[in-house]
Amino acid sequence: MSLKNGEIIIIGGGIVGLTIAYQIIKRGISKNIIILEKENNLGLHTSGRNSGVLHAGIYYKPGSLKSKVCIEGGKRLKAWIKDRGLKTNPCGKIIIPTKYEQDSQIDLLFERGLKNGAKVEIINNKKLKEIQPNTNSITNRALWSPNTAVVNPLEIINQLEIELKDKGVIFIKGSKIRKINKKENKIHTEDNLIIKYKYFFNCAGLQSDRVAHMCNVGKNLTILPFKGFYWKIKNNDAFDIKTNIYPVPDLSVPFLGVHFTPSGDKKNIFIGPTATVAFGRENYKFFEGLEPLMLISNLFILSKQYLMNKNKFRQYVHQQSLQAFEPFLIKSAQNLIPSIKLSDIEISEKLGIRAQLFDNKKMNLVDDFICTNDENSTHVLNAVSPAFTSSFSLADLIINSSKLNKE
Ligand SMILES: Cc1cc2nc3c(=O)[nH]c(=O)nc-3n(C[C@H](O)[C@H](O)[C@H](O)COP(=O)(O)OP(=O)(O)OC[C@H]3O[C@@H](n4cnc5c(N)ncnc54)[C@H](O)[C@@H]3O)c2cc1C
Repeated sequence: MSLKNGEIIIIGGGIVGLTIAYQIIKRGISKNIIILEKENNLGLHTSGRNSGVLHAGIYYKPGSLKSKVCIEGGKRLKAWIKDRGLKTNPCGKIIIPTKYEQDSQIDLLFERGLKNGAKVEIINNKKLKEIQPNTNSITNRALWSPNTAVVNPLEIINQLEIELKDKGVIFIKGSKIRKINKKENKIHTEDNLIIKYKYFFNCAGLQSDRVAHMCNVGKNLTILPFKGFYWKIKNNDAFDIKTNIYPVPDLSVPFLGVHFTPSGDKKNIFIGPTATVAFGRENYKFFEGLEPLMLISNLFILSKQYLMNKNKFRQYVHQQSLQAFEPFLIKSAQNLIPSIKLSDIEISEKLGIRAQLFDNKKMNLVDDFICTNDENSTHVLNAVSPAFTSSFSLADLIINSSKLNKE
């Protein structure tokens, strides 16, 4: 049994935990920070496995936390990356309706984008084809977002780790939390460490609800993991894809639909991610991380959602859940690039799992970020997309709303 002491403990070394540590130091709140990470390396979960898109703030309901932090966070992350000479692909993004009835959503997204402060333009097929050959809008309208960019998420995670270590942050890796003793302000880990804290932030991503439940916080909230498979284009010469190409999403479900994304280093064009029910929160390979009990309970929740058709959930199941199967995926891809065929794509090793929160009381999928304060702790739940883009501003918002800031 070994005892450690930290003024501030951050559980989880993903982008959320790292940027909170970064901002606490930058703002002079504390220099005594321990980051507790259950893996031996950072970036093994969502922050190292996402699309790397720096979103421009178009989709989010004005007034939501997402709308408040996405644009500013994206600008700050871009500047941070530029200062360090890391790679960015400033390729922009187009959003294309794939059904006639989606045409009015272009106006809604345009309005939302403007209200949120994003740069957006409604374009016709002529301009669309100038920006991105081989595409077509069935309604002759699409949305252009010139400020969307793509980065390499792992590069950013690694750089943050280096800088935080330089500033004196202690990383304890390979140590998973077992329990939290709130009376004594102690965190116990599975490898028999006891860490005394003054304040802690729960930034455990896919496991954040379980850590919150250890403190009796968010008992009505459960993470439903959704798997995001990616494919990639074998040879981009035939398609000349240079920008992000997204379908108009169904805004009643929190998934953006299968899209084309150039990588941050411009070497690959990915197609994905899907949003398929995962058999475990860390079920990256078929037999790895299986959680049969969780799966049964999640399938029960999802079937209920399907029957009640809450927030048009049936539409999600019909349109998005089947896209892990190639014939369905290629059909969605062809809605954006009509000439693409199954033989043009191959499955990629890239695979991420979305920590989607479900509210058992309200019986719905939670759309916005949630950060809940308890005695001497803050729990960050539902840090789904665009939490990577927003990270620096989200970190400030979390710190500002925490009890740490009010001491
Ligand atoms: C497929 C996919 C694509 C995405 N694309 C984008 C995108 O293009 N742009 C964008 O802005 N966002 C995107 N996102 C969202 C973004 O990746 C996440 O919002 C963000 O990475 C969440 O970061 P995090 O720090 O909360 O979680 P994580 O990166 O998962 O970090 C949590 C950390 O906590 C650790 N941990 C868990 N439990 C414990 C424990 N008990 N003890 C100690 N440590 C623990 C884990 O090991 C992990 O390292 C995407 C997400 C997915 C799934």
